[in-house]
Amino acid sequence: MSDHDFVSGGKPIGIERGEGPSLYTADGTEYLDAGASYACTPLGHSHPAVVEAVQEQVGELTFVDSSYPVQSREDAYAALVAATPDGLDGAWFCNSGTEANEAALKFARSATGESKIVAATRSFHGRTMGSLAATWKDKYKKPYEPLAGDVEFVPYGDDEALAAAVDDETAAVILEPIQGEGGVNVPPAGYLETARERTEEAGAALVLDEVQTGMGRTGEMWACEGAGVTPDVLTTAKGLGNGLPVGAVAVADWIADGAASHNATFSGGPVVSAAVHATVSTLVEEEWPAHAAEIGDYLVDELETALGDEVREVRGEGLLVGVELKRGANRIARDLALEHQILALPAGRTVLRLLPPLVIGEDEADRLVDALAEIIAPEAQTQS
Ligand code: PMP
Repeated sequence: MSDHDFVSGGKPIGIERGEGPSLYTADGTEYLDAGASYACTPLGHSHPAVVEAVQEQVGELTFVDSSYPVQSREDAYAALVAATPDGLDGAWFCNSGTEANEAALKFARSATGESKIVAATRSFHGRTMGSLAATWKDKYKKPYEPLAGDVEFVPYGDDEALAAAVDDETAAVILEPIQGEGGVNVPPAGYLETARERTEEAGAALVLDEVQTGMGRTGEMWACEGAGVTPDVLTTAKGLGNGLPVGAVAVADWIADGAASHNATFSGGPVVSAAVHATVSTLVEEEWPAHAAEIGDYLVDELETALGDEVREVRGEGLLVGVELKRGANRIARDLALEHQILALPAGRTVLRLLPPLVIGEDEADRLVDALAEIIAPEAQTQS
């Protein structure tokens, strides 16, 4: 048992350094980051390529208005567009996942001339008035109503309901390829294809929110590639700058052509751009998405073997993994932190979410599995 002080939920006080998949408190105690950085550090903490790029840029130029071409932004733009699926040939930088979705919905409306937005139950797209309107949970929304209007919710994963909701007045269908906040919900095979077909038929935009699933997390650079579907708009943030605050909206030509203006002062600033360039090129060149696929499969197999019937389900893709528990996820996350120095993240009441940096190896996966087995299935463990 660790002797640190913790705030609620088992969060150690005094984390001051990170390296690779680990976080350290001031006295040098190590914690495995299995979700503490919330998918924002795919390359691990303090990755040398990102640190170097950012430090150099801070020393040279931190800001000039985005109407002036700056090398680090040009480099970030080129790396991002090269890394997004074919057919998405333009991009805008912004400051967060929420803003990326806000811009995506605006672009879809201006490009189609329509206003209706179809979103899914249990979705999370952000907390500004527009992205919040497409977010499912009432808890986040009720106090702020009325939000942006004309949003229809359909049950996530239900092809028929989705197909029926999309009509000639639809501007956009917005979906997470796998829902993160909603509990690591993986839709049935063919679901995104249905969304693709129906939006195409209706002349609506398919917006895929890859804020949590993107940047290699699900075993491909983008989860939509795994599903064989190219959206009209793809939003990203979280891991895009390996921990620096930046988002982006990648768009097909017809969206770019029809998009009215959207901008913000700090969008694509020189420093975050240096981080984006270093992060995207390192992820691609060093093939971290393929590593995430491999280690994610290993992790899920080992979890299934070790936890068996003691949990309801282990699901996910790559290193976006959810363990559906028979007990409260908060309690398990707390025990993991206090007893095993592992920092995971609940998603809803009964799902424990594992979102480690993509650079974990089998040793870290084993550490996670052993710790969870000790907490959840101690009897099964002593028999083996
Ligand atoms: N979309 C998804 C799928 C997310 O998981 C999140 C953050 N949890 C957001 C959007 C919002 O991103 P941000 O917090 O960067 O605004």
